[in-house]
Amino acid sequence: MIMPSISWFVKDQRDVDIVKEFAIDLAINVQVAFYERRDAENWMYKIAECSPSVTSIHLPKGLEVNDYDANGIVAELSSLYDIKRFVVHPWCKDLMHIAEFVKMAEWTLSFECFSRKGAANPFLLLAQFGEEFKENHIGLCVDFSHLETDLATPGFVKGLLPYTKMLHISNRLKKQQHLPIFVQSSDTNAQQILAQVLDVPSCPVKDMVLEYMPDYRDRLAKQYYWLESYIQQKRRKFDGTV
Ligand SMILES: [Zn+2]
Repeated sequence: MIMPSISWFVKDQRDVDIVKEFAIDLAINVQVAFYERRDAENWMYKIAECSPSVTSIHLPKGLEVNDYDANGIVAELSSLYDIKRFVVHPWCKDLMHIAEFVKMAEWTLSFECFSRKGAANPFLLLAQFGEEFKENHIGLCVDFSHLETDLATPGFVKGLLPYTKMLHISNRLKKQQHLPIFVQSSDTNAQQILAQVLDVPSCPVKDMVLEYMPDYRDRLAKQYYWLESYIQQKRRKFDGTV
């Protein structure tokens, strides 16, 4: 089953209100995202008060230390929102203790890959974890805006699919990242990638997440509804997968 959602970073009360608006007023699934560890500590309970439909959590970067207390935050987030799927920016190798914890709990942790120049590029992540990514509990989050233009193609993303559990969907125009799907000009074609990924019968992706810059907040709801029906329409032919 592939779940559509939108990602929203929460760092103040205004963001909490926006999550409430999306989740409650507009009945949209949300990937609640935190930049810093203190953002999670400050706001996770406030968000939970309105019982939004949270499909996954973007873990903060403050957990990227060899700190066993970090596991407590992951467990708290899972129980607060009743979710089992997480994504994190894998800047630090010490993340493995969180990965081990998530595996023990039988949840899923996706490592978000970045451009080929960085330490978190998809090739390095695959070299390190390739076979393990094919199993249930850890995998890649492929973010279309974080791949160089020549890699953000249907062919490349489909090649990563056996290792991929989550997609962050947006377009990119030069240095401008996280632009909407139906933007007038862009170097990428998110809709084309999506169309081909959804045609793969054994697609292992669980979360398709729209991740836009806050400037495009007003487009999120409409494009979420589009994504929701597009997933349904494209997967209908694969009985039992939606
Ligand atoms: Zn992302």
